[in-house]
Amino acid sequence: MKTIQLTLKNEKETLAFGEKLASLLKPSDIIVLTGDLGAGKTKLTEGILRYFGLSDEISSPTFTIVNEYHSDFCPIYHFDVYRLEDSSEFLEIGGEEYFEKGICIIEWGEMISDILPKDYIHIIFDKEDTDENIRKLKITSYGNKLDCYLERILS
Ligand code: ADP
Ligand code: MG
Repeated sequence: MKTIQLTLKNEKETLAFGEKLASLLKPSDIIVLTGDLGAGKTKLTEGILRYFGLSDEISSPTFTIVNEYHSDFCPIYHFDVYRLEDSSEFLEIGGEEYFEKGICIIEWGEMISDILPKDYIHIIFDKEDTDENIRKLKITSYGNKLDCYLERILS
């Protein structure tokens, strides 16, 4: 486990960070995103999808639970599990089967941390009171397989 902090000054920097993160990802990697409404979870996802050449006008999967995107590299699954009761509901919709198939980005994924594989990246977004465009990110790698991603994010 490793934790780093990052400050993103505006939406453009969040998109650029999403692209950088995407360049490190492999199929079956999991990214969990946590933060209030408007924190930038979907914006970051947009940056990840952009790296893979996928549409940059994405919708939040709040009502559908999962949106699927198909890049040449591997499928990308964008979840929002906020509306689920608990992890058993995630299992009921077959959520676990996505983990092996491609890259999973899971908004509010810590709500289902009991059934997540041991290796994943958790990103917590905080807004700043002083500037509506600044986001402070706390990025933690669980397990140790993905610790190297955090080193590469800082490099
Ligand atoms: P969430 O998915 O967390 O609810 P969104 O990504 O949908 O949030 O929305 C973030 C909103 O905040 C967008 O309207 C975006 O333009 C704005 N914004 C301002 N500054 C930033 C920043 N640094 N990073 C991400 N979004 C930002
Ligand atoms: Mg969202």
